[in-house]
Amino acid sequence: MSTHAPLDALTFDLDDTLWDNRPVMEHAENGHYAWLDEALAAWHGAHLDREGRYGERFPLAAYQARRLELAQRHPLRRGDFTWIREQTLAELLEEYGLPRSAARMWAAAAIDRFLDLRHRLSPYPEVEALLDDLRGRYRLAAITNGNADLTRLPLAAHFPVRIAAGEMLAPKPDARPFLAALARLGSAPSRALHVGDSWREDVLPASRLGMRVAWIDVHDDPERSLPAGVYRLRHVRELPGLLARLEAAAQGVFTPS
Ligand SMILES: [Mg+2]
Repeated sequence: MSTHAPLDALTFDLDDTLWDNRPVMEHAENGHYAWLDEALAAWHGAHLDREGRYGERFPLAAYQARRLELAQRHPLRRGDFTWIREQTLAELLEEYGLPRSAARMWAAAAIDRFLDLRHRLSPYPEVEALLDDLRGRYRLAAITNGNADLTRLPLAAHFPVRIAAGEMLAPKPDARPFLAALARLGSAPSRALHVGDSWREDVLPASRLGMRVAWIDVHDDPERSLPAGVYRLRHVRELPGLLARLEAAAQGVFTPS
């Protein structure tokens, strides 16, 4: 392991790095859409007689296909997933026959429901103690493309800097969310390590900036050759061991890796 500057900052991806996001999103996706169908059916029986149930006319697959199409129509907003969802719902509800004002109200209500479900998540059991330990030694930031709002989670206390890259319209792999986080941490790429699961959105952009990277290889892809300064971990719980090796290397102490 070659000698590097000591680290003073760590930046973290959230989804699939600090928790398993797939079941969270499945539950939120199905849950808010089923809620909307039920709520509309209860609210507007007359409409139901004329047009049929909303969920029959626009099943979940239609909502998902329309989101992709709407994201292509609005390339600058494509990373703002919450906006895309709400716009899509408003369009579909208008097509279903609701007046625009009612369509927007129901879309907003469904998004509230989605965000509520989306934040019912459990970080991996090691995460709380891990962050509690790390924040005494490093400055910590969270950089996410997703719509997890840390202020709705107890983990927020560990992250003085939180970058919602999708909502700032520069989602990863854009370099700007990384640079914004480092600027706010008062750090520099050579003094910082990014922790994330996505090769394209975490590893490549952070590495190109000159940050070191702990790649959480959740998909178990051991064939990939790692650029210098990129370290493969199977789980975020392995991070303290990597940091100990990097600290030893920075002090010029030989440790077998
Ligand atoms: Mg991720």
